[in-house]
Amino acid sequence: MRALTYHGAKDVRVENMPDPVLIEDDDIILRVTATAICGSDLHLFRGKMPGMESGDILGHEFMGIVEDTGSGVSAVKKGDRVVIPFVIACGHCFFCELTQFACCEATGPNPGAALNRKNISSPPALFGYSHLYGGVPGGQAEFVRVPKANVGPFAVPGSLSDEQVLFLSDILPTGYQAVLNGEVKQGSTVAIFGAGPVGLMAAACARMLGAEKIFMIDHHPYRLEFARTTYGVIPINFDEIDDPAESIVAQTAYRGVDVSIDAVGFEAKGSTTETVLATIKAEGGSGFVLRQCIAATRRGGIVSVPGVYAGWLHGFLFGDAFEKGLTFRMGQTHVHRLLPELLEHIENGDLQPEVIITHRMNLDDAARGYEIFNDKEEDCRKVVLVP
Ligand code: NAD
Ligand code: ZN
Ligand code: ZN
Repeated sequence: MRALTYHGAKDVRVENMPDPVLIEDDDIILRVTATAICGSDLHLFRGKMPGMESGDILGHEFMGIVEDTGSGVSAVKKGDRVVIPFVIACGHCFFCELTQFACCEATGPNPGAALNRKNISSPPALFGYSHLYGGVPGGQAEFVRVPKANVGPFAVPGSLSDEQVLFLSDILPTGYQAVLNGEVKQGSTVAIFGAGPVGLMAAACARMLGAEKIFMIDHHPYRLEFARTTYGVIPINFDEIDDPAESIVAQTAYRGVDVSIDAVGFEAKGSTTETVLATIKAEGGSGFVLRQCIAATRRGGIVSVPGVYAGWLHGFLFGDAFEKGLTFRMGQTHVHRLLPELLEHIENGDLQPEVIITHRMNLDDAARGYEIFNDKEEDCRKVVLVP
């Protein structure tokens, strides 16, 4: 089969790879019909995530048709059309029972750590996302093996196109979880840092839940302009306004917003010192957007962080957060929990996630797709690949 493989920073290639085979009884083999490149893939592409090996197949946003099933699979059958959550959850461990699927302790590189009385981190397995997350081959490929197939794959109605439902695999639930974590409701004021796909999905969901004022911060005018016309956000370009948080506070009666959403993560631009320190690995990343979120949020408000962080941060301003009485919520998305209700919202027209797509490419051109998305060429917002 053809698949997009990692060979080092800025070096991804579409190559011939062995077809995946069923390993466990509850595996399926999926024939991928659509897959997308995520901002999280860009952390890998730029060589910023540890645990990658040459030849790893990337991709965690994908959907397709069930091609083959293991003997223990009862939830789906050959020929079903399904969307796959990027998190691989077992469905019945301590955390899955709590519907905290992105904390599943049974699928990752250290399964059952707590049960075995081992005090080690036990993240879940994710598709195509380094050996820190299980080293599971991803879905930017013609075929992919999907473990835990009685829990993960969600059947989608034939009336909806691939593009309408593909983002249920990750960025739509991620944007939704970000606003739910922020307790966004009718009349809320919200600041969303990052006008990439996750920030845009958060804006769509915040609108759906009745947010009154949404500020959106980025420095790509074409992304901000799309968000303004599509979701009615108040755009703030941080290349033009030095301190977006200060501007937001001034526009919210000098209190700040109810909730700030960090849809950027550890590669945030804005602090040269942190960028340099992160490059020499003396710092885990940039805390610039986190500090902006703390500054932009009103007392007693919420900072919601879907953006990915790795390792430690020195410049976190915990004192300000304490003094303001802020609540922080963050983490990978509990996709399985949110997917069904989001599918309903797509079906009844509340959400049209596909409007953010700018690039539709053949899987064979995936390496070019990474470049375009990474370098923000051709006003790129989101790339969908078709094998
Ligand atoms: P993206 O790279 O396309 O978008 C990030 C945007 O942030 C860019 O437009 C960039 O210009 C902007 N940005 C950079 N520095 C900024 C700053 N200082 N202030 C404001 N904006 C700034 O990526 P994306 O697909 O939108 O993903 C965003 C983040 O969400 C990534 O960190 C990704 O890994 C993460 N993510 C998390 C989950 C999860 O489960 N929690 C799921 C998907 C993605
Ligand atoms: Zn993703
Ligand atoms: Zn589990």
